[in-house]
Amino acid sequence: MIRPTIIAGNWKHNPKRSAGESLWRGVIGGVEDRRNHSDVDRQQLEVLIFPPLPWLGWIAGCAEEAAAVGWGAQCVSECTTGAFTGEVGAELVRDFGAQWCLVGHSERRTLFGVDDNSVARRVRQALDHELKPVLCIGETLEQRESGETRQIVSEQLEKGLSLCEEGEFPVVAYEPVWAIGTGVTATVEQVAEVHGFLRNRLCELQGEGAQATPILYGGSVKAENAADLLGLDDVDGALVGGASLEAESFLGIVDAGFACRSGRKPETF
Ligand code: PEP
Repeated sequence: MIRPTIIAGNWKHNPKRSAGESLWRGVIGGVEDRRNHSDVDRQQLEVLIFPPLPWLGWIAGCAEEAAAVGWGAQCVSECTTGAFTGEVGAELVRDFGAQWCLVGHSERRTLFGVDDNSVARRVRQALDHELKPVLCIGETLEQRESGETRQIVSEQLEKGLSLCEEGEFPVVAYEPVWAIGTGVTATVEQVAEVHGFLRNRLCELQGEGAQATPILYGGSVKAENAADLLGLDDVDGALVGGASLEAESFLGIVDAGFACRSGRKPETF
């Protein structure tokens, strides 16, 4: 089963206007350039950008450029459109041209109280409005140290998918909380172990169709470690925070994705 490779940049609550425009143009130019020099197509390798909401409207206005990558929201509301001041939901985001959204990022869970039931409802909202959700899950350091990693990610996965219907397969991102924004990357052994476990759990929960679901790794991915991580069997891409804020470092990770898809061994990259 060949799954697409996805390299996704999560800009979090960055960048400001002038830096963002040049970041966007640098990324788009770099991705187009690489596509022109490669026979790896978008079915095989997709690049996604998740900027903060004001940027979504701006990107929607760059129609031609925006077609070079997929893009979407870092979070969508549980609410439908209506009298919900301050909320931004899947329907609106989709209406402005976004195709994707993150759901359940650990910063939303730990800093803004989004729990598993809310995650499930947001996944449902995304699917109902033709946005492709990336369901983010991952254990804290304390949970890992007390041997609870499998139990935690399994629960988050099961609850996050609980409102999906047959044939609906959100992309999954495994992001150990202790590796996000810390500069500490999980080892390839740790990543391989959890991704293998998640692949099996997905198939138990959703049937063999889940073999086609990409599982991304996130947590201090950089150009220097991307090839090793993307070289693992059950790692189908990367969700990148800090290193997506500079075009050059993000494109280094995109390069690792292209190298993987074109069959070059990670170490030759
Ligand atoms: C993230 O925000 O999803 C993330 C993985 O951040 P970082 O790459 O900075 O660890």
